[in-house]
Amino acid sequence: MNRVQHGDWRTRSLWTECNPYEPMGHLRGSEIADIVIVGAGFTGLWSAIQLKEADPAIDVVVCEAKVAGYGASGRNGGFAMTMVGRSLADLVRKVGPGRARATHLAMRDTLKEIEKFCIAEGINAAISAPGLLTVSNAPEQDARIASDLRAAERLGLDDFHPQSAAQCQQLVASTRLRCGHFEDDALLVDPAALCWGLRDAARRRGVRIYEQTPVDALVETGSGRVEARTAFGTVLADRALVATNAYAHSIKPLRRFIFTVYAYIVVTEPLSDTQWSRVGWEKRMGIEDKRVMPHFHRPTPDGRILWGGRDAPIAPGGPNPRRDRSRYVFRRLEESFRWTFPQLCDVAIDRGWGGPVCGTLNCFSSVGFLGPSERICYALGYAGHGVGQSHLAAKVVRDLLLDANSELLELPIARKPPIPLPPEPLRSWVLTGSQRLLQRDDDGARTALSRLALRILE
Ligand SMILES: Cc1cc2nc3c(=O)[nH]c(=O)nc-3n(C[C@H](O)[C@H](O)[C@H](O)COP(=O)(O)OP(=O)(O)OC[C@H]3O[C@@H](n4cnc5c(N)ncnc54)[C@H](O)[C@@H]3O)c2cc1C
Repeated sequence: MNRVQHGDWRTRSLWTECNPYEPMGHLRGSEIADIVIVGAGFTGLWSAIQLKEADPAIDVVVCEAKVAGYGASGRNGGFAMTMVGRSLADLVRKVGPGRARATHLAMRDTLKEIEKFCIAEGINAAISAPGLLTVSNAPEQDARIASDLRAAERLGLDDFHPQSAAQCQQLVASTRLRCGHFEDDALLVDPAALCWGLRDAARRRGVRIYEQTPVDALVETGSGRVEARTAFGTVLADRALVATNAYAHSIKPLRRFIFTVYAYIVVTEPLSDTQWSRVGWEKRMGIEDKRVMPHFHRPTPDGRILWGGRDAPIAPGGPNPRRDRSRYVFRRLEESFRWTFPQLCDVAIDRGWGGPVCGTLNCFSSVGFLGPSERICYALGYAGHGVGQSHLAAKVVRDLLLDANSELLELPIARKPPIPLPPEPLRSWVLTGSQRLLQRDDDGARTALSRLALRILE
């Protein structure tokens, strides 16, 4: 495994800047454990907690290259949503109505469990459950809203409510909104506070967590165990979990299935009461639009508007801290913010940041084993929706690593590697080319090729 290149972890996002945090020390010498987890984002920490909840005697060690939440988990928009795949309609299309319904209901349970866990553990992650408004602001997006609503009806779900333009605009004052749907089950969180709260919850359960400890290699030993090798010592375990998401780019057998895109966010300065009154937004729910590469917006606990998404450039070489900021994307985000809310022309953009997202060709996450020995498990590929999905993935990890027989193992994310990507140079050409086409299509520059790319996708 390559070492993560370190940037200053504190300045990775508004969330990491504003929450207090004391990193743990690094590994010293050699240790033995039942399970070693590489990576302390949501996936690694939820998995450690799930394993301990299932069997308190199990000995779990987590090694994190930088600090917990250094990756996407400390930088995201904080939307915990039910979405698996590109949308509900996409999920039905890809796995059929029965499995789509089971997946959606599993995600609903998972969101409830996240909220309940945080309350029980006293994790102050500014969690709210205001629902999710998904909106259209262009004709082709109207059709996507309609197909989600048809999918919800087909699955007999009672948590998607159609919204007319007037209803959308009553929820948030933007004349750009043409129609939408409102989903009851969605949380908003402060992601760094959640991640850091999970670290402490894991420690309280006896998980040993070493930060500033990059794992250089995970090696299966002759004695049927796995050794995590670091510059400070080794952890010898029966089984391992790779919970490095986009950073798994450095692991060849996983790189075949995944690619890295960067997602970006800008935040405004805090709004005054008068400025808030110009947008309404009394429910303070999260909002996402129906571009192929969507925008997402939400109020922050300190009264700003967070505005993310739009461009999602491919990073062919995997995560690289040099990509953590992009003036070009920040400018485009500001442009769409001003287009949506012209009444907030006196509100300044305060700052922006970005981070690596792990994509798969069909936008499905995947939890499985690397190789037939079933010693090394992996969970990754949430395609920008890992705040909720990582909790479900962690339950699948638990059942795989504890050899449990559970219904969760029948979900489409379990034990099925994502679709492989073509080898280089075709890989970069296909990914970068299609991403550019779809982005231009989202911006209204439609071509025969972009239509074709969309038809394949949708
Ligand atoms: C800007 C942005 C906005 C987003 N918004 C949302 C959103 O609103 N809702 C949503 O659901 N999802 C969102 N996402 C995606 C979401 O954040 C991720 O899907 C999720 O955090 C992935 O969690 P993870 O634990 O799998 O990976 P990560 O959080 O990336 O954690 C991986 C960890 O592994 C560590 N690591 C890497 N290599 C090594 C090594 N060799 N040894 C030890 N440790 C290592 C890294 O330092 C890192 O801490 C967003 C992502 C970004 C970047």
